[in-house]
Amino acid sequence: MTTHKLLLLPGDGIGVEISREVERVIETLHGLGGANSFEVEIDLVGGAAIDAHGVAVTEEAIAKASDADAIIFGAVGGPKWDNVPYEIRPEAGLLRLRKDFDLFANLRPAICYPALAEASSLKRELVEGLDILILRELTGGTYFGEPKEIVTQENGEKRAVDTTVYTTSEIERIVKVGCDLARKRSGKLHMAAKWNVMKSGVLWRDVTVATHQKHAPDVELELILADNCAMQLIRNPKQFDVIVTDNLFGDVLSDEAAMMTGSLGMLPSASLGAPDPKTGKSKALYEPVHGSAPDISGQGLANPIAMIASFAMALRYSCDMSSEADIIETAIAKVLDNGLRTADIMQSGLTKVGTEQMGKAIAAEIQSAMA
Ligand code: NAD
Repeated sequence: MTTHKLLLLPGDGIGVEISREVERVIETLHGLGGANSFEVEIDLVGGAAIDAHGVAVTEEAIAKASDADAIIFGAVGGPKWDNVPYEIRPEAGLLRLRKDFDLFANLRPAICYPALAEASSLKRELVEGLDILILRELTGGTYFGEPKEIVTQENGEKRAVDTTVYTTSEIERIVKVGCDLARKRSGKLHMAAKWNVMKSGVLWRDVTVATHQKHAPDVELELILADNCAMQLIRNPKQFDVIVTDNLFGDVLSDEAAMMTGSLGMLPSASLGAPDPKTGKSKALYEPVHGSAPDISGQGLANPIAMIASFAMALRYSCDMSSEADIIETAIAKVLDNGLRTADIMQSGLTKVGTEQMGKAIAAEIQSAMA
């Protein structure tokens, strides 16, 4: 029996509601027995932690996170905390976790379930069955480079500076992750950068080519300019499988890819750290892409699929439970095929359900698949 330690951080708003549905899925897996079990700790993060402890994440929660095989994160934030000081705002909890565990690799799959192809803004034939993965570098580049400032010049005009900085090792480690992921999927990797106008892009291109040749010559590598990548994603998204890119382009391209799938409520993500040299295991945090949705929170309306699919990613990448992850993903597809829809993905003639009903239906499909 292998026991996996999970830290569940529901957070705020709908984070709390959709986390309950992940707990339901965990209980379902438990109930079915098998060679794996879970030890689940639950703690506060975001606004809930600010209310209880005055900080967005406590040292105790960080210690639990450090001890866990995977951190399962809901969402943080909401109008209640809009005016707290910047340093203790709800998002500070998430940023602290990302920083402490050096979660540099952000995996954002964009999967278009056939049953939801109509909900996409692109034509059905372009997106039906789409399954791509944007791999975004998360801890470097434009969002962190120094100098980062707005200065008032002598003539009174303001001047803003952001700096895009990458080192060889930062690029190499994310490209290696990209190669590994591509190898486990269709064997095809795109790298998107702007080597035509940015020095950091030149380094991305050169390090990617060298890393690929050294570590994964069996993977098919294609370099693509980031602007062309944005265009090709709309023109013919299924030409891609894994796209690795920097922090800034990854932010934009992953949101673009996300919208092809219909709703924010469908999108899971994973953020992985470097493998521990002794155990080979990476620290990892799994979370839906969406936020705490204050406009619908507390009403049982939230779509729990992004959060449940994030848990499936945790099984795949942190618990070595790929077949259970497949079962969860198939259960989600089946429930959608059966016509169940939360409000965000509702189509006429189908059955509108709330958060709990959707979670229960997915749990029931998991149960019947594993029975
Ligand atoms: P949001 O993602 O919370 O919501 C955007 C829209 O999508 C809303 O209309 C919401 O109702 C809808 N939506 C989101 N998730 C849904 C789901 N699972 N089911 C159904 N509908 C869903 O983004 P926002 O409104 O810009 O931000 C709200 C709060 O969340 C803010 O405080 C923001 O800072 C925070 N936020 C947190 C995270 C995070 O925790 N990682 C990410 C983004 C935003």
